This record gives sequence, C-alpha cells and structure tokens, in this order.
Amino acid sequence: ISSKLPDIGTTIFTVMSKLALDHNAINLSQGYPGFDTYLYLKDLVDEYMQQGYNQYAPMSGVPQLKRRIASKVLNIHDVEFDPEEEVTVVSGATEAIYAAVTATVRQGDEVIILEPAYDSYAPAVRLNGGIPVYVPLNIPDFSVDWQKVRDAITVKTRLIMVNTPHNPCGYVWTQEDLNQLAEITRDREIYFVSDEVYEHIVFDGRKHLPLLSHPELREKTFSCGSFGKTFHITGWKIGYCLAPRPLSIEFRKIHQFLTFSTSTPMQYALAEFLEDPSRYLFLNQFYQDKRDLFCEGLEQTPFKFTPSQGSFFQVVSYAHLSNEGDFDLAIRMTKEIGVASIPVSVFYHDKKDHKLLRFCFAKEDDVLEQALEKLQKFT
Ligand code: PMP
Ligand code: GLN
Repeated sequence: ISSKLPDIGTTIFTVMSKLALDHNAINLSQGYPGFDTYLYLKDLVDEYMQQGYNQYAPMSGVPQLKRRIASKVLNIHDVEFDPEEEVTVVSGATEAIYAAVTATVRQGDEVIILEPAYDSYAPAVRLNGGIPVYVPLNIPDFSVDWQKVRDAITVKTRLIMVNTPHNPCGYVWTQEDLNQLAEITRDREIYFVSDEVYEHIVFDGRKHLPLLSHPELREKTFSCGSFGKTFHITGWKIGYCLAPRPLSIEFRKIHQFLTFSTSTPMQYALAEFLEDPSRYLFLNQFYQDKRDLFCEGLEQTPFKFTPSQGSFFQVVSYAHLSNEGDFDLAIRMTKEIGVASIPVSVFYHDKKDHKLLRFCFAKEDDVLEQALEKLQKFT
C-alpha cells in the first residue's frame, strides 16, 4: 500500500513505554497517571452497567453529561454554552482534535502549528489535505512569538492549533496571548482548535485561560478537553468539544462517522461524578505538590530547568552538559540509569534537537523519589 503518512512511524509514547518495560525502567515517558482513579467513579460505572445502560449513547453525548460540562465552563469561566447544541462528548481529545481539523481544513488550506507540538496535530492536518505551517515557540520559556505567528498568516490560513497548558513544555497562555491571537486573526476566516486537556492542572496561582473565555475567539474555537487527565482515566478515552452552534454542527457531522458515540455507562458515571466541582478543582494543588517534589529533586541533578507552569510534564535541558542527541540520550538513560523520558525533538517536524527531555510527574511520590535518586547519578 502506498502510505499516506510515509514519514510517520509508531508514536514515541508507545516506543518509550515499551523500552521502559523491556529494561525494567521507571516510566516517566508516556503521559499517564501512575495511580488509579476513584473507587466511587468505578462503582458508578458498574452501577450503570448493572442497570442496563449498555447500548449506544446519543450521538452527541448523554444529556446529563453535556449539561455538567456546560455548567463547569459557566461556573469557572462565566461563559455560556448550550449543552444540547454546543457540547459534544467524544472518545478522547484525540478524536475531538481530528474531528475539528476535519471539519475545517480543505485541500491546500494552511494550518499554523506552534512547535514543539503534540504529535497528533500535523498528521490530522495532512490527512485532510492541509499544509502545516510551523512556527517555533520561544526558547527557553516556550512563550509564543506573536510576530512570527503574524508573519506566518497568509490568505490560505484556515486554522491555528493552540495548546494551553502546553504539552510538552508546560507553558500556560496569558490574557495577553489571547488578545494577540484575537488581534492578528480579526476579520479573517481563521478557526482555532484549542487543546486544553490540562485545563485543571495549572500551578503557582495561575489561572487557565481558555480561548472560549475571549468573546471574539470563542466564536471561532473548537475547545477540546479530556476526562482522562482530570480523573486519572486515560484508558477510558472520553473527552469533549465545546464550540458555537455552527461549528458544532459541522463537528458532529464528522464525529458521527468517526466513532458515532462514546461509552454509555461511563458517560452516565461521569455526569454523576461531576456533580461535585471539588473533584476537579483540587487537581491544581495535587499536581503542584508533585511538580514541587520533582523539581526539588531535580535541583540535585546537573539538569537545568524552569518549573512547569501547568500540565503534568517537566522539561529539562542538558545542553550545557553534552552534545548527545536527545533521542539517543533518552534511550541510553532508560537502559543505563533506569528512567524513561521523551526526547523533545519528536515534537518538532524537523526533529530539531534543543537537548531537552520531558518527564511525566503524574506518579506516586515514592516512584518520583526513586526516579530522582537514579537521575541524581546522571553526570
Ligand atoms: N492533547 C494533548 C496535549 C495530550 O497530552 C493528550 C494526551 N495525553 C491528548 C491531546 C489526547 O487526549 P485523549 O487521551 O483524551 O485522547
Ligand atoms: N498524551 C500522552 C503524552 O503526551 C500520550 C498519549 C498517547 O500515548 N497517545 O505522553
């Protein structure tokens, strides 16, 4: 078969997790919590299954869950979405991103991707005939260079991919970032896919500012979220997309032929679990404690870093220590030191190597401590 993605292999997350397993290393590579979800949430799924909620859910999601998602956004950001028309439940943020890109991008359309970027964006764009236009984030703080984004916009620009809090770098967008984006796209038919799966994981008193909190951006944004990150259920693959009515209509046309609908008992369970906002609002502090523990330990290593602002990832630099490629180093550290990480070059289309590694700190404290002990042996 002639490949539609000839340059793409198996994702780095699968590759590094397997390497960690093969070498019995601590796996801080693929981003997923190293602890279980809540017993109560699991019991709820079980209850709904026992009660017979086992057939197809409504295509756009279970009404109770859509209402809870809409009220979460209303309570936190004071922005109204019609749960019936403007909220769609999907099988993970990956599906939301793919469906939103498919709904907007036509052959030859340009899509701006800020790099380093999560690995699913460019393939989604390319499979839809779009042309990724890459704009690098500033080094070392990974903030957005707005002049560069402005310069990248052409008459063919149809979409800009946004990710805040950022994977892998942990940068969290400011109000000024939202204002800049609004200004440079004003009066143009440019849409936004905003990947906000780490919306409830921000640190040091920062506030996550979704694109939908900006009145102008809201009108052109597909806001993609995931319960995987928020309730430690990455394996359930449930996410959502909030978008104004005209965008949601097109989004749903794609969603209905990608997966049609998402697991029924899990939707009912999540709707009930979302009743209590403290179940997601405490997450900032929960992960900030882990970030602090991890960063304190990193101080005893030769790596350089600035503490992550959000997400459950910490990027470190070894540029001052060695010239070794980041991919080679990530593999060698897995085998020799026993800690697996992700080389940040994989998030660049040209594999640009800034000598950075990404660690996932969504692990039990004792696992982080063991990993740090190993990393402290790194010279
Ligand atoms: N976007 C980002 C930035 C992610 O880190 C991830 C997964 N960790 C996803 C999207 C995919 O989310 P899901 O598992 O809900 O498909
Ligand atoms: N998003 C996770 C990460 O960044 C991985 C998800 C996946 O394995 N596809 O590590």
